[in-house]
Amino acid sequence: MAQPAPQHDLDRAAGIEVTEDFERFAQRNDIFTRAFWDPAVRTAKTDAFFASYRMEAIPRRGDGFSQRDFALRNASWLISDIMTDRFADQGRREGFQAPISADTPVAESRAHVSNPVDMSIEIKRVACFFKADLCGITALDPRWHYSSRIDTRDLSDAPNDLPEGITSVIVLGHEMDAALVETYPAATGGAATGRAYSQEAATVMQLAAYIRNLGYEAVPSMNDTALVIPYALKAGLGEYARNQMVITPEFGPRLRFSKIFTSLPLAHDAPRPLGVRAFCDICTKCAEACPVKALPFGPPEAGGANVSALRGVRKWTSDAEKCFGFWATLASDCAICMRVCPFNRDFSRLWHRLWLRLALSPLRRLALWLDRRRGGRTKPSSWWSAPG
Ligand code: SF4
Ligand code: SF4
Repeated sequence: MAQPAPQHDLDRAAGIEVTEDFERFAQRNDIFTRAFWDPAVRTAKTDAFFASYRMEAIPRRGDGFSQRDFALRNASWLISDIMTDRFADQGRREGFQAPISADTPVAESRAHVSNPVDMSIEIKRVACFFKADLCGITALDPRWHYSSRIDTRDLSDAPNDLPEGITSVIVLGHEMDAALVETYPAATGGAATGRAYSQEAATVMQLAAYIRNLGYEAVPSMNDTALVIPYALKAGLGEYARNQMVITPEFGPRLRFSKIFTSLPLAHDAPRPLGVRAFCDICTKCAEACPVKALPFGPPEAGGANVSALRGVRKWTSDAEKCFGFWATLASDCAICMRVCPFNRDFSRLWHRLWLRLALSPLRRLALWLDRRRGGRTKPSSWWSAPG
């Protein structure tokens, strides 16, 4: 009997089910990009959403949405914004609609790599030094790369190419501030998002510079170039969940991910099925808590509500139009579905580690019952007045 292709084995282990009608995703269909060209998405509210990141058109709706709340959120994005805007005049909104340009040339002398396993250990050490909270490594997989990217000057399609010789993808996880995540939905919660993006901008650029100094190609990337979730799953960082996030044993869903495409010889990690899928099968807390019912209640399905859904992968998929419409109403990002998730816990504490073992075991229903009173919102004003 013919052996299944290794790619299929990896997909299965990562919980990824690709169907026959699979199509690579075009970045112009990303909901944030559609907010600039698609009248079905672009409204006065979505324009005001983006303006609020420049302290323009900020709403004043009280707790969590005052000037100081938006001031904190927008300041948290600053480092990411500086990096993103560097080549805006060339149509490259880097980190989001184009990969991050190299600030360091590839060294002419190339460090010899005698053992890719040792080099992977070294890269994880350096990633940790540059403040990544998680690091996994997997093989390049062009299926997850956008079929085209966007030139932000005129929103035309632009080639989405990488340098020759890329073989591996280093996936980095960046923890979001736990206390601020408890305040979603609010601009203070958005500060947890912005700080993580600013951290990831610094981390991917520095780690890529390290690899280039060793004489190998390295392209730092945030939300640009390729979907990061399948890469995070294949790199063994966690498991896909109903709220469209990767649940990790270290931080639950409270993470952002970035990546580096590289030619450095590296050993690859294996996917880690944990038992999250089985837990999500009996839990709908995120779908119930979503104010606009953008998350599905049933089993994973192929396709989705509109063109912002990836075609040809059976998975839980949100209605991105409903979700982003709610963000626009708030003038800030929402992550209620992250806050209420039972896996959003501090796993440095013994009790939460014990709960995790229960949740990933056949006793998952007991774990869900034990979680029934958790997930409430912290008032943003309480965050501001908490002891420092
Ligand atoms: S981010 Fe908010 S609006 Fe979007 S799916 Fe999650 S809970 Fe719903
Ligand atoms: S809230 Fe429940 S269903 Fe939603 S992602 Fe978390 S565990 Fe899964």
